[in-house]
Amino acid sequence: MDAPTTADAGGNDLVADRATEPPRSNSGGFRVRDARARVEPTSVAEVSRLVQEVADDPAGLHVHAISSGKNWGFGSAEPVTDGALVMDLRRLDAIRVLDTDAGVCVVEPGVSQGRLAQELVGSGFLLNVTASASATSVVGNILERGVGLRRQRSEDVIGLEVVLADGTVAKVGRWPREGARTTPYDHVPGPGTVQLFAQSSLAVVTAAVVRLIPDTEELRVVRLRFTRDHLEAALTHLKGWHADRLVAGVIKVFDTSAVTAYGGDSPPTYQVYLPVAGRAAVVAVITELIEQEATAEGTFEEVDVLDPDQPVGSVAEQAALRGYAGDPSANDAMVRAIFDTPLDEVDVRGRDGWLFCVPVAPLAPSALVEVVDIIQVASARFGQIVVGHTLNVLPSGWVDVVVSIRFERSTEHVAVAHLLLDELHVAFTEHGFPPYRLDIDHMDDAAGLRGDAGQEEVLDRIKQALDPQGVLARGRYA
Ligand SMILES: Cc1cc2nc3c(=O)[nH]c(=O)nc-3n(C[C@H](O)[C@H](O)[C@H](O)COP(=O)(O)OP(=O)(O)OC[C@H]3O[C@@H](n4cnc5c(N)ncnc54)[C@H](O)[C@@H]3O)c2cc1C
Repeated sequence: MDAPTTADAGGNDLVADRATEPPRSNSGGFRVRDARARVEPTSVAEVSRLVQEVADDPAGLHVHAISSGKNWGFGSAEPVTDGALVMDLRRLDAIRVLDTDAGVCVVEPGVSQGRLAQELVGSGFLLNVTASASATSVVGNILERGVGLRRQRSEDVIGLEVVLADGTVAKVGRWPREGARTTPYDHVPGPGTVQLFAQSSLAVVTAAVVRLIPDTEELRVVRLRFTRDHLEAALTHLKGWHADRLVAGVIKVFDTSAVTAYGGDSPPTYQVYLPVAGRAAVVAVITELIEQEATAEGTFEEVDVLDPDQPVGSVAEQAALRGYAGDPSANDAMVRAIFDTPLDEVDVRGRDGWLFCVPVAPLAPSALVEVVDIIQVASARFGQIVVGHTLNVLPSGWVDVVVSIRFERSTEHVAVAHLLLDELHVAFTEHGFPPYRLDIDHMDDAAGLRGDAGQEEVLDRIKQALDPQGVLARGRYA
């Protein structure tokens, strides 16, 4: 088939020169949008030129930028609305700065978490990696406010380079400057603008300033198991350890179905991973204290202290352990096992489909029990689908609830999985646990979830000022 071009759509020939066929499938079984063409610019100047061409295009296309397009479970590389020019930024792949004094780097969208993590080996710093494939983009995940093993990715970013809808290129936030020291401080004097560009449609991002995590002498991961009837008591322990700052990252609590969905194996229990890092002597004291408290009252069935340098167990467990150590390479075996296909074919040929619903909840045991009840009530009605949940307790004190929906990619199962996803969105929102990240079918919920007319007015005015024609990412978190 000939590559569709923007010229076919009545658009501009300059874009058409570089256009190829857009992506045609996605792991979540979403409707494939009518993307008109796909371009792969190789420089920031070309991004700027292409954006201007689209702005001048009488066909009224809009630009949907992707970094590595592996937004699995949320729509992969698909745009939110039809009529997009997909701008694939994989060829902007420079690590522009790696400052291992300050613990800061500057990366372009095509830099994967695997490559950056590899560059950091022996530097004294770690990347806050996610549980997704090593080939996923650091920038792409930051722009979705993804969650890593140590903290939310939005806490990693302190500056962005943005291309606005009229082609203007600007650096916002804190940037390394020639001849000056860089400090990994979040702000510049005056209003902050970096977060305006996360989960937004205001720019194409061509680079990010990313703050790294100092490596420590020792890292251990405490693995705990408990059964459903001890959920509230177990969460009370986790809350206490979190409050006392014994934990060096995200506490991950997988239910049995989540363990299975991610390719792990466990007895029918919840499985907790809790990272402890620092001086070896301090890590020894903390892990011993947690072991004592965890075994004292019978809440937990098993307690083990694991060394991420000696990973054993399932592919899912290895991924979690290595992830805490800043190494996403073990994730690939997990993702391959889930989709039963090479990583670059997940969207086209992946055996199973995958969807996420991600509500936020407070670190309050009774609220989290309510969250789990909502999931169980909804999923009981959809027997043929594997519905897992992971409670990610973030260092800043909120819980990222990840409901993972894994299903066979037959027409019938795709339809059922999407019905369940819709039902979960409604139920969580009604119970006061709104999702913090949206898939391409639920973007229209964004304004309602923000829930304040004044806030919408501010956002509308910003959009009008920066992109009055709607050239960029139409419909994204609109
Ligand atoms: C088994 C499994 C485990 C996973 N684990 C995690 C996890 O631990 N944490 C997590 O957060 N996610 C996880 N995911 C979900 C997903 O794979 C990751 O979030 C992934 O990083 C997102 O894809 P990406 O990096 O390729 O971003 P992209 O798909 O490139 O970008 C996502 C969206 O951001 C916008 N965007 C991207 N780049 C730009 C740009 N340069 N300028 C403007 N807008 C842009 C676009 O709207 C795009 O659709 C997991 C998925 C699976 C299947």
